[in-house]
Amino acid sequence: MTTHETTGIHARSYQQWIDGSACEAASGARFPRSSPAHDVVVGDYPLADVVDTDRAVAAARKAFDAGPWPRMSGAERSRILFRVADLIEKHKDELVLADVLEGGKPITQVRAEIAGAIDLWRYAAGEARSQHGESNTSLGQHMLGLTTREPVGVVALITPWNFPFVIVSQKLPFALAAGCTTVVKPSELTPGSTLRLGSILDEAGVPAGVVNIIVGYGASVGQRLAEHPNVDMISFTGSTGVGKGIVRASAGNLKRVALELGGKNPQIVCADADLDAAADAVVFGVLFNAGQCCNSSSRLLVETSISEDFLARVDELTKRVTVGDPLDETTKVGAIVNQNQLDRILGFVGGARDDGARIRLGGTRMKSDKGLFMAPTVVSDVTRQMTIANEEVFGPVLAALTFDDLDEAISIANGTHYGLSAGIWTSKYESALKAGRELSAGTVWVNCWMDGFPEMPFGGMRESGIGREQGRHAVEDFMETKSVLFHQGPRTSRWVPALEAGQQ
Ligand code: NAD
Repeated sequence: MTTHETTGIHARSYQQWIDGSACEAASGARFPRSSPAHDVVVGDYPLADVVDTDRAVAAARKAFDAGPWPRMSGAERSRILFRVADLIEKHKDELVLADVLEGGKPITQVRAEIAGAIDLWRYAAGEARSQHGESNTSLGQHMLGLTTREPVGVVALITPWNFPFVIVSQKLPFALAAGCTTVVKPSELTPGSTLRLGSILDEAGVPAGVVNIIVGYGASVGQRLAEHPNVDMISFTGSTGVGKGIVRASAGNLKRVALELGGKNPQIVCADADLDAAADAVVFGVLFNAGQCCNSSSRLLVETSISEDFLARVDELTKRVTVGDPLDETTKVGAIVNQNQLDRILGFVGGARDDGARIRLGGTRMKSDKGLFMAPTVVSDVTRQMTIANEEVFGPVLAALTFDDLDEAISIANGTHYGLSAGIWTSKYESALKAGRELSAGTVWVNCWMDGFPEMPFGGMRESGIGREQGRHAVEDFMETKSVLFHQGPRTSRWVPALEAGQQ
């Protein structure tokens, strides 16, 4: 660990985790990560390539085919997963710091994220004990049908940079509860907290080879995992474009694929809503994590009759949001993850201006002596066809459109190729019910935004994904269903006439 002189920030050194041991990459290569808020190196990591990927998959394969984990009782796996949750809690300050410094995210936010992640591990630990199949005794007197559930095998988990520890915790404990073995590849931008999990899992009693953690680039390690003939399932969270590539790459051995992808999520604000609450939620929805959030409510659909008043309220609240050093306890919005991402966001804002939209607030990089910060941005006079109304910006940029009645609002809301989440603010029961039923999204929030619970499934429709994480069925996603049919008594209907006694 090295300490940077002027900031006092420590740079941590990590190792990858394969077959129960911390190790360097086979090539010996390492790479650094600088804090996007402080411009100093905060971590350095072994750079895995295809050789490390194959080693990690081989370890997971061996642990699945011959190791104890898939053969343990649910109760034993549950006990170990509860211990993992306790150890994450014990080491939470270290994990918080890694995600704050590598991701540029506000420390108060990350504390809540890690607490949420611990809750996910505990929820999955409980679920490990309640996985079972079904019996069918209605198949006739001579038949008994059993539906058994078995772990799917070796699962590759690929995660993005924006919520590193939360997202690995939406996948890994559920895969482990099912009895699967895994290879985990975090994003090369924010791998620290995930790499740290290796020794935590070991201390908790997860056997060698059950979880292998390597970090490398998507085009090498990610692609190899998606193509690998010994990987049975891939669970991916990231962009829709890469998700489509993973589906193609997975075709070689027809892996099971679960995808959590992007969104262009609308919040509909009706004239009859509690406008004060709605304005706060709209600002929170688009600025949380500097807008680098799959659930970002990057589209505001506001009823025309109140649009000017409501946007003025949104402007005023937006100006009060504190942007800056993520280590400052009062900061609400931190840094943009890297220069590419900042350029991309500025490109979308420029495009909106060229298309005739109005930049009411922000629209530029913020002046600061260090770090990459984007001014919270509100864009109005947006129409349905504009790029800013359809593409995921992944930055603190709100695009506001107007509607005249709820049918029009729902039509605009459903008018992109995404379908991750959507929300409505209204005091009318009829409007809430209609929106709840007609919005094409995996999650619909009514008079709230981004509330989430391990008990509630999460995922996207259309190009926002395949499958659901969390909730009662999350462990089943990592299991195969098998029908086992038992016949009792003499053969009931012969196919070939029976042999006569003398012919036998
Ligand atoms: P990304 O798609 O660029 O990368 C995600 C992961 O995939 C990284 O680990 C990356 O290294 C890896 N990867 C890149 N190319 C690959 C390839 N060819 N094969 C295999 N793996 C590859 O996404 P990102 O920029 O890290 O994250 C932002 C995106 O993630 C946004 O689109 C966001 O909406 C989405 N996201 C979705 C959810 C959700 O739950 N639906 C949650 C968070 C983020």
